[in-house]
Amino acid sequence: MKQTVLVVEDEPAILTLLRYNLEREGFSVSEARDGEEALTQLEERRPDAVLLDWMLPLVSGIEVCRRIRRAPAWRDLPVIMLTARTEEGDRIRGLDSGADDYVVKPFSPNELIARLRAVIRRARPATAAETLEFADVSLDLAGHRVSRGGTPIHLGPTEFRLLRYLMERPGRVFSREQLLDAVWGHDAYVEPRTVDVHIRRLRKAMNDGDRTDLIRTVRTAGYSLDLSQV
Ligand code: CA
Repeated sequence: MKQTVLVVEDEPAILTLLRYNLEREGFSVSEARDGEEALTQLEERRPDAVLLDWMLPLVSGIEVCRRIRRAPAWRDLPVIMLTARTEEGDRIRGLDSGADDYVVKPFSPNELIARLRAVIRRARPATAAETLEFADVSLDLAGHRVSRGGTPIHLGPTEFRLLRYLMERPGRVFSREQLLDAVWGHDAYVEPRTVDVHIRRLRKAMNDGDRTDLIRTVRTAGYSLDLSQV
């Protein structure tokens, strides 16, 4: 079955270019010209990924992305932001809003499609798999069970959600704010420091008996699940 991409872009020339290249690569394309229309279309049909322009009429791309991440049904939907801006600050703001990747205009269609395939691939285990695996850790989504090297590990509900989120996206670094948004929900009144507390609990449970620590602390940036240090 064809994978569907929702392209949200108000410039007709770029829309045409994207549609042409995506269809040539075997994707099915739906279009929205502004942020409102994008959100309406998402309600009607969930695509496999969203290409989201930053500068849009009515509701900005950043705001659309935030709303996608806030909605439980769309939380895992891959989003790539398109933008003409190149400043580092904007880049970080784009990723902070929950985008999976970021492409600066003018872009190479081939590179864009490669990145699109990558984010769709990364997202798939979260929706399809019943069990997530990372190193010797196994997380059973339906049964809410975690084991390491075959030994059951008991986690609190927050630690379970935290581990699940990291296992669905191994190797990626998340800031405390991103983890708060994803695991606690956007509207929760929780301090970023709370993330450290739960990471500590998660580590303690996971590393019982001097096992290798799989969670990497990235100074000033945040946390990731990482095998490189093993
Ligand atoms: Ca635009």
